Amino acid sequence: MSVDLGLAHLAVLSTGETVEAPKFLRHAEVRLKRQQRKLSRKRKGSHHWQKQRVRVARCHARVRGQRRDFAHKVTTGWVEAHDLLAFEDMDLRGHMQGRLPKATADAGWGLLRRFCEYKERNRSGRYVEVPTKGTTQICSKCGRLADPPLPLKDRTYSCPCGPRLDRDLNAARNVLARALCTVPGGTGESTPVEIGPPPHRKGRRVRSRKREPPRDTGVAT
Ligand SMILES: [Zn+2]
Repeated sequence: MSVDLGLAHLAVLSTGETVEAPKFLRHAEVRLKRQQRKLSRKRKGSHHWQKQRVRVARCHARVRGQRRDFAHKVTTGWVEAHDLLAFEDMDLRGHMQGRLPKATADAGWGLLRRFCEYKERNRSGRYVEVPTKGTTQICSKCGRLADPPLPLKDRTYSCPCGPRLDRDLNAARNVLARALCTVPGGTGESTPVEIGPPPHRKGRRVRSRKREPPRDTGVAT
């Protein structure tokens, strides 16, 4: 399956599931930001500054711990259920919306990908990153290019070929289709061929040890 990381949802899976960042983690992140702001207002080196610095460090450690715990929980579930996990190779979109700044989201996304990568490797599964270009602007069903291009604010993807689809889910399905094409000995042939222009291969990363097709990707969802 493939994972679309974003701000509207933490993750949208090609299976149609979504994953939200848990409330406690969001709260902790907001608290951290607030403490950091307080620190920036204090005179550097002063007594109050020292005390605030300790508070920020403590806050930071807690957020880090919670983020890790959550990422472990989520990725273990994904890896156990899927022999192939596909991600986009960068995170250039979706940064203009959402409540939390990019740096915060990045930290969570980075963990999710890193954990997926090593966990799949440890159990001889596949971790694939594919080029992100065009994944939001191509219909995952028929391969038609969105015309006019889908603006960032539109959360649903509509195509003359069928029913409307969540924007991120459409992207996730495109990512999965690309991933299946790049996997050696993979199930690319069972994927619908109408995935639009051939994936450009520069910079792709394919890590796999297993030659037989993953058990859950026969249905390409
Ligand atoms: Zn279509």
